[in-house]
Amino acid sequence: MGVVPTVLVLPCPAQGHVNPLMILSQKLVEKGCNIIFVTPEFIHNKVVSSMGNQAGGDNGRSPIKLVSIPDGLGPDADRNNIILLFDSILKNMPAMLERLIEDLRLKDGVRVSCIVADFLMAWALEIARKIGIRGVLFYPSAAAMLALQCSIPKLIEDGIIDSDGLPTTKKRFQLSPSIPPMDTEIIWWAKISDSITEKMVFNISLQSMKTLESTEWCLCNSTPDLEPGALSFVPKLLPIGPLLRTYDHDQGVTERSLGQFWEEDFSCLNWLDQQPHGSVIYVAFGSTTLFDEKQFKELALGLELTNRPFLWVVRKDSDCSNKVCFPNEFKGNQGKIIEWAPQEKVLSHPAIACFISHCGWNSTLEGLSNGVPFLCWPYYADQFFDKKYICDEWKVGLGFDLDENGMISREEIKVKVDKLLSDENIRVKAREIKKKLMKDVDLGGRSSENLNKFINWLKE
Ligand code: UDP
Repeated sequence: MGVVPTVLVLPCPAQGHVNPLMILSQKLVEKGCNIIFVTPEFIHNKVVSSMGNQAGGDNGRSPIKLVSIPDGLGPDADRNNIILLFDSILKNMPAMLERLIEDLRLKDGVRVSCIVADFLMAWALEIARKIGIRGVLFYPSAAAMLALQCSIPKLIEDGIIDSDGLPTTKKRFQLSPSIPPMDTEIIWWAKISDSITEKMVFNISLQSMKTLESTEWCLCNSTPDLEPGALSFVPKLLPIGPLLRTYDHDQGVTERSLGQFWEEDFSCLNWLDQQPHGSVIYVAFGSTTLFDEKQFKELALGLELTNRPFLWVVRKDSDCSNKVCFPNEFKGNQGKIIEWAPQEKVLSHPAIACFISHCGWNSTLEGLSNGVPFLCWPYYADQFFDKKYICDEWKVGLGFDLDENGMISREEIKVKVDKLLSDENIRVKAREIKKKLMKDVDLGGRSSENLNKFINWLKE
């Protein structure tokens, strides 16, 4: 018997970071590793409660051990405040993590052999180095975004950003001939909320870049079929994507996905079964996007105007989840509204025609892997660049145009849905990309081989 590595996995505390690292953890388990999946308490509690009674026993599905450590904030602190949260994480979690590893060794006889840390939690690799275990980074967004980060010194030198990482003027630039041109609008760390938060995120990512220099591997959720230019620009990246969930079919379609912050509403799958093939507009904006009331109402009326069935995720925590926000004229007869979808299962359902998406990287990969065309509605951070990839590079979707008030009107929604669904070229392209991605992750495919390479290294 070979060595059974115990890997400590540390995501950044956000749904779009937890999901890919949970999928990676499940893949590592399938290949004979033990996983300690560490999140701050507030995330841990969400994950465990979304599992309902499946979370019983040893965290439901051993051998992934879900472990929480405090983030240092009080129970009522506003954890949506990124500055507050990250400041506290950086002050408190390193010592907690070190103690956890020590306790695992002394109390449970478990020796962690490697830490896999999200790029924004790169500080954890300092601990790995200190206690003499291995560490690798995981980059959760498009590789092009890391290529952009690697170019920070040059961007400063060329006067595109200032030393705080903020764009000086609106400019177009190109990192390499094989990476699509960018402009200052897509500098992700400058598209978050306010300049203080953006400077802080910029500084954290600068720190992570230093860590990157001294690590052997940086895993990423991508593949050369999607991003050949960006992946050759950052040779340290090991593409193992798209990371997709595998389900245990014996447990049926309602098997819950580990790592979700909200309970998935499986009733939508029965509803989808009753819709004609290729008819339903799936509408979901990820885990953090918030709508202003006016735009939310316009979206509701736009969906109605399409006269097509739609499945719309309106999260409990989005300001518009209560009925008051739906406009009076909105009947919603053709649609189904749910609070959280089993998204990968939805996207793979034959009834789905297209995906109105905020273009988060995970949603992008999930749509691509299922051959679903996109209507892009980016909100912040890297979503604007993902939209560029979808519309201009891979040509599997369309964007929306804003009206004179900076809104996406109901008419625009109808026009773009009709245009997308009558575009055969987009459908063909979407199917082609799906085929390539499935080949990448299948046995012997590039991403699957890269994952094996990583696992062999873990077992050395
Ligand atoms: N997701 C889900 N159900 C939903 C909406 C989203 O399971 O109703 C999942 C989705 O499959 C993806 C993640 O939440 O894995 C969102 O990540 P993404 O990068 O797309 O967006 P973010 O939430 O980071 O903005």
